[in-house]
Amino acid sequence: MTFSPNAVARLRDEREEESTKPYLARGSRAPRCHTCRVIVSHCLCNWRPRVSTRAGVCLIMTKKEVFKPSNTGWLIADVVKDNFAFIWSRTETDDALLALLADPQWQPYLVFPGEYVAPERVTHSVEMDTSKRPLFILLDATWTEARKIFRKSPYFDALPILSLLPEKLSRYRLRRSTRSEHLCTAEVASLCLDLAGDTEASCALDAYFDVFSQHYLDAKNQLPINESSAAHRELGVFVKDLPQNRSQ
Ligand SMILES: [Zn+2]
Repeated sequence: MTFSPNAVARLRDEREEESTKPYLARGSRAPRCHTCRVIVSHCLCNWRPRVSTRAGVCLIMTKKEVFKPSNTGWLIADVVKDNFAFIWSRTETDDALLALLADPQWQPYLVFPGEYVAPERVTHSVEMDTSKRPLFILLDATWTEARKIFRKSPYFDALPILSLLPEKLSRYRLRRSTRSEHLCTAEVASLCLDLAGDTEASCALDAYFDVFSQHYLDAKNQLPINESSAAHRELGVFVKDLPQNRSQ
């Protein structure tokens, strides 16, 4: 099967080639699948969902984030066909990023909490009644890094800020019984896709994130792979190559 290219995987490969000594992320000594970066015995590759999306996603990442095995921006790039990823630098601006922001087919939204931004820039919804497709720009970094990227990237200054409403966030947390205070990048992306009317992709990404978390944790805790969980069943609907889906 052919997949659309994963921009985060491409960045990782580029960075790997550039660096003279290999970057040792925590836990990176266990052999990992090069395609899904989960420990080989718990490889996720057969579980990549295939859905169509109208929205696109652009990840702004730190160098460190690209190599983190726990990074979830990678999952977004697996699900959303039109995915872009850039390494952020305070001193250099990537021309390809500027070109993407200026591309008339896209309406970029920078996803960021509204309370840190002038109110006139903030929106809580995605404009649907337009020929432009939404492009969600996600700062895939720690919160401290994300704030720095936000403050020190003048090319984002003119963009509308998509701020997810607290009631949306808490409803999402309830539905998924998420305990953590902060949503990870994949969860934020799922909410954005839902706002954009890409409901199927939003569900697929949630399920893919759950399956990834399970494979990742089971591998870490040296537990056998369990592919009959509720999350796998949910995700299976979106995976066209599963044996039970082949007749369709
Ligand atoms: Zn794999």
